Amino acid sequence: MKKFRTLKRQKILVTSALPYANGPIHVGHLVEYIQTDIFVRFLRLIEEDVLYVCADDTHGAPIEIKAAELKITPEQLIADVYKEHVQDFKDFSISFDNYYTTNSPENKHYSDLIFLRLKNKGYIYTKDIEVTYCENCKRTLPDRYVK
Ligand SMILES: [Zn+2]
Repeated sequence: MKKFRTLKRQKILVTSALPYANGPIHVGHLVEYIQTDIFVRFLRLIEEDVLYVCADDTHGAPIEIKAAELKITPEQLIADVYKEHVQDFKDFSISFDNYYTTNSPENKHYSDLIFLRLKNKGYIYTKDIEVTYCENCKRTLPDRYVK
């Protein structure tokens, strides 16, 4: 087999869109993961130094809305969905090197680190903004909650 080579050896990091942890993987998701998996398998075949990583996106209003609908905590929802997603990807032989979650100690650590570095250099500032507040729930509401 003819060897394909990039001019300069480099590490290649590949990912796919992070699926929201608010429901099952569907065919639309799988199209992307299968196409990406084919690309990654090709890179491995030609002996490129490739890493295929992905994760459940566990943050945002869709998670909170779905958990409330199911009358479970967001933490329970993301734990249940993670198990389903991992099994679905396994069933379709998607060859992630690592499939993880954005709700991880590592993600929190690096998010805090990046935030603090930006803040310490003056790139983050505060200002007053208007938000919707629910007296009944005693909390501010995400845009998706407001009709
Ligand atoms: Zn309310």
